[in-house]
Amino acid sequence: MKYVVVTGGVISGLGKGVTTASIAKIIQSMGHKVTVVKIDPYVNVDAGTMSPFEHGEVFVLEDGGEVDLDLGNYERFLNIHLTKAHNITTGKVYLNVIEKERKGAYLGKTVQIIPHITDEIRNEIRKVGKDHDITVIEVGGTVGDIESMPFLEALRQLSIEEDVVFIHVTLVPNLTVVGEPKTKPTQHSVKTLREVGISPHIIVCRSTQKLNEKTKEKIALFTNVKVDHVISAPDVEDIHFMPIIFNEEKIGQKILDYFKIDGKPNLSLWKSILCKEYKKNVNLAIVGKYIDLHDSYLSISQALKHASFKTCYKTNISWIEAENFDNVNITDEFENYDGILVPGGFGSRGVEGKINVIKYARENNIPFLGICLGFQLSVIEYARNVYGLKNANTTEICNTEYPVIDLLPEQKKISTKGGNMRLGSSEIILDKNTMIYSLYKTDRIFERHRHRYEVNKDYVDLLTKDKKLIFSGKSPNGLMEALEVKGHPFFLGTQFHPEFKSKVESVAPTFYGFVKAMGEKQ
Ligand code: GLN
Repeated sequence: MKYVVVTGGVISGLGKGVTTASIAKIIQSMGHKVTVVKIDPYVNVDAGTMSPFEHGEVFVLEDGGEVDLDLGNYERFLNIHLTKAHNITTGKVYLNVIEKERKGAYLGKTVQIIPHITDEIRNEIRKVGKDHDITVIEVGGTVGDIESMPFLEALRQLSIEEDVVFIHVTLVPNLTVVGEPKTKPTQHSVKTLREVGISPHIIVCRSTQKLNEKTKEKIALFTNVKVDHVISAPDVEDIHFMPIIFNEEKIGQKILDYFKIDGKPNLSLWKSILCKEYKKNVNLAIVGKYIDLHDSYLSISQALKHASFKTCYKTNISWIEAENFDNVNITDEFENYDGILVPGGFGSRGVEGKINVIKYARENNIPFLGICLGFQLSVIEYARNVYGLKNANTTEICNTEYPVIDLLPEQKKISTKGGNMRLGSSEIILDKNTMIYSLYKTDRIFERHRHRYEVNKDYVDLLTKDKKLIFSGKSPNGLMEALEVKGHPFFLGTQFHPEFKSKVESVAPTFYGFVKAMGEKQ
């Protein structure tokens, strides 16, 4: 089996995930079956209980895996679906080994990091890689971190048994505008990697501009890498240009040369999708709670990007703190927006602000998309402001006279948190003659979920009495999955998360419809 391992040095946040996704995309375009694994050295078993404020969004897979957001980049770039097994964490590895130990699998032995933990890591990697030509593995964190040591050791061992190409991503800073790019951090970082027995074959250098030859030569000399294997990764306005930039440096051919296999990159489809010239700008307000870290809503901003490529309407996002509108009767604060999006979320902070904004979007014909919590709050808004159910709410926030959103029945029995929400892909039946049906052009769809609460069925008849609010999508066992408001240019709420399935090469219909509606707004 063949593996490409991507490690990172100097600092975190170098765009290693996008680098990994871009390299994997190029190899895929060379005609090889590629998959991607993310190693996260943290002790959490999965990303499900981690705060979006610290780690960005929790990405949800088809099988319900709650994983690191980088897996979203891999799926979006490669147009593939991954599974829980593609995200390996310290917590998961130790949990497996400890469970085996308790069952007596190592009877008589002293269970140790080497070989038992490193064996477990290699086994997990091999399981995922076995049906693929090439497996690209991204190692989270920075070399030198204590947490990543067992993983780097496992990968060193893997390189003795299999074909492995190591790529190290580093930073080449420029201290002043005219100053020379500094190679010392890269030199030190490669030295640290060598100390654990790994010599990189290729070095990818993040920098503000393309590296000049002199800098590349210096890095090559100090790190023992061929000069044409020092690859420049300059800042780009849009991450979707990264596969194109890496391809210009022939990174795919260089990797395949090590494996002694052939292939010619073909990014023509990719290039044809990226919109060359936008027809117009549309202004979108995303009203949420985790807005200080935009990565908290990464899949949403990427799905909007995909829709912008297809419509050629460029979406400019304004991130709005919902809490600021908790006690505001909105009049003209949102009049310059072509659309409003209320994303998913948990807990009570900012909920009243979001409800106020939804009311404004509904009453003023502003294209609106509400996702998960955004969907639930649009039900509450309608109950309160159209049917006069004062204090209607979700039982996630308070016990109320009108619990229009309530716990899913199976959730009532669960008292722990972690991996037990309604998660992953499930079927939704769409009603014909609805807006959502016209977007998907089919009555049977599969979308991903991550929630504990649902529309309370006791209120469905009442809420739909005016025949303007309709639940246009339902699960086969009768959960409300989508709502729309008739007569409004675009008012759509979804209990599911359409953003998790949007891909560069196949945009989510919901987002396409939403951006189109924003572009067509009068
Ligand atoms: N907090 C809500 C629930 O658990 C919505 C979840 C979400 O937006 N992902 O149902």
